[in-house]
Amino acid sequence: MTVKPINQSRQRQVVAATTACILRAEQLFERDFLLPHIRFDLSGRIAGMYRLRHQQHEIRYNPYLFEKYFDDNLANTVPHEVAHYLVAEMYGWRNIRPHGTQWQAVMLRLGVAPQVTCRYDLSDIPQRRQRRPVRPGGLEGSGRPVRRRPDRLPPYGGRPAHAAPAPHRQRPGSPLYRLLPGKQRG
Ligand SMILES: [Zn+2]
Repeated sequence: MTVKPINQSRQRQVVAATTACILRAEQLFERDFLLPHIRFDLSGRIAGMYRLRHQQHEIRYNPYLFEKYFDDNLANTVPHEVAHYLVAEMYGWRNIRPHGTQWQAVMLRLGVAPQVTCRYDLSDIPQRRQRRPVRPGGLEGSGRPVRRRPDRLPPYGGRPAHAAPAPHRQRPGSPLYRLLPGKQRG
């Protein structure tokens, strides 16, 4: 049976947690941050995603994975994506590795272990079709352009590993996308 997406009540909890995380960051870093748009439109194996799109900061969550692993996602995916947003705001995009030192430092300031792996059973999570397979671990390390570089990406076999660090996804070919440096381990 397929997991249902989180209901509106839980969505509000996630939005509140995201907002609280950003407000906490404002105190920690003594500056203001705009609230990004928060959407629950991810599917497949990705728990969360931060992106800048049309000058709009967006944090997207997977409503199915949040339903199934609500507490873990609230405790980890929310600050994980918020930290990507904060790093982008504070340091920009140039020469910033997605899970590099800046992101790790922000996570630690937020009081969350800077982990990029998770172990979710995805067997009952609706999968979206992918135009091409995404190679675990090869995303940022290859230095080659990839089509999408999601967070919390499980390798083949359904054992989510997040081996692929997650990046600031941009549309292929966008200037920001090309600015991302090569070597990155996660
Ligand atoms: Zn990430």
